[in-house]
Amino acid sequence: MSLAEAAKRVAAEFEYPAVEVNRGVKEFLKEMEEGLEKDGTSLSQIPTYVTAVPDGTEKGLYMAVDLGGTNFRVCSIRLHGNSTFSLTQSKIPIPQSLMTAPAAHDLFAFLAQQIGLFLEEHHGEHYEGVRSCKSASGAPGYKNEEIFNLGFTFSFPVQQSGINRGTLIRWTKGFDIPDAIGKDVCKLLQDEIDALHLPVRVAALVNDTVGTLMARSYTAPGKTTTLLGSIFGTGTNGAYVERLDAVKKLVAKKDTSGYDPSTGLMIVNTEWGSFDNALTVLPDTPYDRALDAGSVNPGIQMFEKRVSGMFLGEILRRALVAMIADPEVALFASAHSGTNELSSTTSIYKGSKLLETWGVGSDFLSVCQTDDSAGHGSIRQTLVNQYGLHAPSAGDAAAVKTVAAAVGRRAARLAAVAIAGVVLKSGRLEGTDEIDVGVDGSLVEFYPGFVEEIRAALDEVEGVGEEGERRIRIGIAKDGSGVGAALIALVAGRLGES
Ligand code: ADP
Ligand code: MG
Repeated sequence: MSLAEAAKRVAAEFEYPAVEVNRGVKEFLKEMEEGLEKDGTSLSQIPTYVTAVPDGTEKGLYMAVDLGGTNFRVCSIRLHGNSTFSLTQSKIPIPQSLMTAPAAHDLFAFLAQQIGLFLEEHHGEHYEGVRSCKSASGAPGYKNEEIFNLGFTFSFPVQQSGINRGTLIRWTKGFDIPDAIGKDVCKLLQDEIDALHLPVRVAALVNDTVGTLMARSYTAPGKTTTLLGSIFGTGTNGAYVERLDAVKKLVAKKDTSGYDPSTGLMIVNTEWGSFDNALTVLPDTPYDRALDAGSVNPGIQMFEKRVSGMFLGEILRRALVAMIADPEVALFASAHSGTNELSSTTSIYKGSKLLETWGVGSDFLSVCQTDDSAGHGSIRQTLVNQYGLHAPSAGDAAAVKTVAAAVGRRAARLAAVAIAGVVLKSGRLEGTDEIDVGVDGSLVEFYPGFVEEIRAALDEVEGVGEEGERRIRIGIAKDGSGVGAALIALVAGRLGES
């Protein structure tokens, strides 16, 4: 068997044909429904307490902060009301000592201090004006119109119970402040903001996927609002606009204190990374199984493990390693100048990243996809420079490219399953308007052809088809934790004032 044939055979293991896509969509719809009914299901379908999406006409000055892993980002966003905005921001590294501080107060006081510094530096006028006016009148608080509504993107697991209420479940990413666990992170921040007498109200607790939806809905061309915000970066997830009455598990609680029910809508965070953890419909290869077994969370996030940036490189790597190990397959095994044009024997250095678990990133798939040249010069160069290969041949590079394309294509077709599920669930195909979908994340932004592959698969979905696919508009949504969070603060601010 030639190397090219062997590569095709491995690529075929990643085929995900139309029939399977359609089975996937049916299961996705079923799991969406289950998640809306009760807790503890495969798709979590978490109500976000955000009950409206912007249409681009919103105006005003808002704040947003983002506590991610390593930095604390503070921004102010001016919405111009014509789908455009201006953003001012500062990024502050979080001191290591505060990540493991003895008390929650230590960290949150620092965050409030940074908000104060930001206001003094960038909004001195507003800030001073408010301060002098306050002391002149001797009023105990600020007037409503003087207060900045702030959206708080907090990228740690929280149990949200209202638009600006949520308790910390556990820390991740190197943080460890036991004192904060079980406490309302919005209140922790608000208390420290109040201690500094800053004119800021923590109006909303923000999930990054919801931020993506809001940012896209504001910036998307035309008046139509966006249906779905989705992320294809390190991980994958989506948040969409659902009818409030369809969120049965929430409506059953009869407690509307945490949100504004008047719009009849609820943004739902699907947490679709855990779609079909039981593997009833998801494609499965020996490489997927080995990746999962060697992961920190075997058996969960099974959809994400086939779709997102953190995993695609590792799937490819495992497939290539299997080819290398197969004595019938001559990958990286050209022994003479006739086959590798470099007059040298191809070999892999010990310590090559190719032989190391998690050694290959999904950016390598983009390199493979981009290089259409006859000799695959940049693929070969990357193999040499980053993956410890000596003198790989054009045939080796072509084989790698074939397998990489298959892994990327399957990921995009799986992404289409989730997107089609949400589109079908929304019923919007029955209308005539365009259906807007926002996407964010390095994978969808940089992997060549990712969106095109999604579209091709959408074509094949029963109930969508070519006609439906043409009505779906997929556009990049940038800066969900900035403008998206500000927009959530805006929507939430209306609730806080009433
Ligand atoms: P995050 O998910 O943390 O917000 P990103 O959206 O930047 O960050 O996604 C990071 C992921 O995207 C990583 O898994 C990385 O391997 C992957 N990635 C980065 N660049 C590329 C690229 N050019 N092509 C494909 N994947 C990429
Ligand atoms: Mg991101």
